[in-house]
Amino acid sequence: MESTLRRTWAEINLDSIAYNYKKIREKIGPNVKFLGVVKADAYGHGSIQVSQLLEELGADYLAVSSADEALELRVNGIKMPILILGHTPKEQVGRLIEYDITQAITCKAKADEYSAEAVKCGGTLKVHIKVDTGMSRLGYLCYDNYFGTGVEGIVEACKLPGLSAEGIFTHFAVADEHGDQCDEYTKKQFDLFTRVIESVEKELGHKFAIRHCANTGATVRFPDTYLDMVRPGLLLYGYGEFAHEMGLKPAMTMKTTVSTIKIYPEGTAISYGGMFVTDKTTRIGVLPYGYADGFLRSLSNKCSLYTKEGPAKLRGKICMDMCMIDITDMPTVDVGSEVEIFGEKNSIDELAELAGTIPYELTCAVSKRVPRIYLRDGNVVEKELMLRM
Ligand SMILES: *Cc1c(COP(=O)(O)O)cnc(C)c1O
Repeated sequence: MESTLRRTWAEINLDSIAYNYKKIREKIGPNVKFLGVVKADAYGHGSIQVSQLLEELGADYLAVSSADEALELRVNGIKMPILILGHTPKEQVGRLIEYDITQAITCKAKADEYSAEAVKCGGTLKVHIKVDTGMSRLGYLCYDNYFGTGVEGIVEACKLPGLSAEGIFTHFAVADEHGDQCDEYTKKQFDLFTRVIESVEKELGHKFAIRHCANTGATVRFPDTYLDMVRPGLLLYGYGEFAHEMGLKPAMTMKTTVSTIKIYPEGTAISYGGMFVTDKTTRIGVLPYGYADGFLRSLSNKCSLYTKEGPAKLRGKICMDMCMIDITDMPTVDVGSEVEIFGEKNSIDELAELAGTIPYELTCAVSKRVPRIYLRDGNVVEKELMLRM
């Protein structure tokens, strides 16, 4: 179904993602593999389109958060290896084997369950062992007094029938934050990770094919942590200070249009709650873009959106389907004029900062009723409307 353009839409520039991929590849060198993190619908960019591009560009691995996300890629023709980073119910093990999907193993209970299921199915489940080196989320706990039991648990998992441990990985908690303490913490996590690998490999008598830990922050700041593969997400999409540092390009531009223009006298309260009251005759543009499209309501009355005459202040509360901008001094901004919410002109990083959040949350929030328009070589190559019709 052709989507209804000229309301609100997200332009995804595949050339920017390809550019970012190549720049990151140049940085990591020819001997390090590249895993593209495409969980959460590729941070809102469309996991099928992004994965197709990465496959074409020669990336080595993809990562998603769930079995459904992995199967979505397989069903849509993605052939490259896919790692599920999060929890998969044991009932899904047969399907993972059937579709050749790699599962993270995060503790003894899961290892035992997955092994038993795989044996029952008569197949082998490819797994990557997750080590908790200080993120304190998923993974075999290995820090401080847990080193011995952690290593023992991992060795045991690697020997279980029905499981084939292709890889081992850990996740950094503060690699993207600044300060000596954070750097020290990351270094400690990495040192522990390498010690765990060394002990496990010694016990097993063979090596893991793929050892990986570097997320966006570590890919840019800590080349010593690359090991066999890097695992960036945000960097690939071109947001955040590290993408900026590397001269990468933001892949998504959110755009909307002015649907209606109203002129109010001084003293008019705009939108729910009346948090903004005009102090003079004010020309207000109504935009068909609200929190149901992914705008964060916490930005009400705080940010500016970008018109052809420059930034226009957002006025009053953001509603479910609409918001209002002040275009009093922008006579050429008319009904139908395009407004950039974030993208090349209006930095998503600044918008995220104003909202007290991170760019990840803003791109993930773009909802399914916002059509995605895919661009390649300056041409529209696909329009995807995610509504069921
Ligand atoms: C999301 C995620 C990443 C990617 O993080 P970025 O900060 O976007 O680079 C890497 N590894 C794991 C385990 C993740 O959950």
